[in-house]
Amino acid sequence: MQKIFDYFQQITQIPHCSHNASKLKDFLISFAKERGYEVQTDKAENILIKKGTPKLAFQAHYDMVCVGKAPKIKTFIENGWMMAENSTLGADNGMAIAMMMALMDEGRGCEFLFTSDEEVGLIGASALAFTLDSKFMLNLDSEDEAEVYVGCAGGVDISAMKDYKLTTKTGTFYKLIISGLPGGHSGVEIHKGIPNAIKLFSRFLKDKNVQIASLKGGERVNSIPTNLEAIIYCESELQNEANITVEKKEGIYTVVDGAEIISVIDRFKHGVLSFNETLNVPDTSINLAIISLKEGTLKIQTSARAMDDTGLKQVQEQYQNFFESFDFHIECEGKYPAWKPEINSFSKEVEKAMISVFGKSEFKAIHAGLECAIISEKYPNMKFTSIGPNIRSPHSRHEKVEIVSVDRIYQVVQKVANCYET
Ligand SMILES: [Zn+2]
Repeated sequence: MQKIFDYFQQITQIPHCSHNASKLKDFLISFAKERGYEVQTDKAENILIKKGTPKLAFQAHYDMVCVGKAPKIKTFIENGWMMAENSTLGADNGMAIAMMMALMDEGRGCEFLFTSDEEVGLIGASALAFTLDSKFMLNLDSEDEAEVYVGCAGGVDISAMKDYKLTTKTGTFYKLIISGLPGGHSGVEIHKGIPNAIKLFSRFLKDKNVQIASLKGGERVNSIPTNLEAIIYCESELQNEANITVEKKEGIYTVVDGAEIISVIDRFKHGVLSFNETLNVPDTSINLAIISLKEGTLKIQTSARAMDDTGLKQVQEQYQNFFESFDFHIECEGKYPAWKPEINSFSKEVEKAMISVFGKSEFKAIHAGLECAIISEKYPNMKFTSIGPNIRSPHSRHEKVEIVSVDRIYQVVQKVANCYET
């Protein structure tokens, strides 16, 4: 399997950060043409490669999250895992690209779909417009060996806005800083009970008489907030607590009354709303992600997820009603469908291949988005499954991929190709 690692090494030397992956696109096109494949591209920069009239499509995204020195990537190996020096590695999803290149090099009669800009909002998958021949699609963007993914969550970002009356206040204020919380992914880690900086803020000030001059908390809509900063006026004496520091500050500020804001945050139910015991994943959840108060306008951003579209609709309605009961204005955006968990003939075939290599396999669903959800909405008669090698800490400088796992997953991929190849 040295070939896969040689191909992967080649990919790491071609910049392909999201929004900037055209060099890798050109490279993949020539690679396929040199091996006698037909190539199509579309307006969204997706690439479809095929030979004959295939039954099976392999799919991966060809952009990567660039953190640290990336796209300058220098790989090294430690304890059987490949990593990059001070940057993301791009094994998500570059290892899948390398595997698909190896399949093309073997001349497989399959379709190969490379989507653009997955990491910045599933852009390529959302705009996909090719006519596909295949009846089955194997997505290679999962990150645990010996697991066969058969479903993923859909989601929607719900924002709530309200204007509060400003007044001017002079006196002793507090600068309040919340920091040092671990954070985590708002989908796959939402059930872990990770503390939320915004909820910590309301717990700290609950039942106190507070006026707020400024408030800013949270980092990204899809991560559990780790930081918050506020300037507040409080009649009670405030003391430092774990992860909360307060500092007195004399001044004149324009402020809004804090009673309702603190109550909204306090009553907002953050985290897992219902749990799917069969699949052992959250069924519905919401992340209280970002809060800001600017010139009297409060904005709260949340991201809701559910394992099926009915569940998502319910969560959306529940939280719209919640915010509307406080007279907030609501905006929903970035909605993407769920891939409702389903074990079908194709996923069973993939399971068989997985068991023959690993001696075991488990059907799984993930409480986060995969491109399968969006693609399956466009191609309703196609059957989907997702697998991948062991990858840890993607999207961070600590991203790593297990070498032996790549070898084994490639054996699974080959077995699946053998079944459906034309
Ligand atoms: Zn990925």
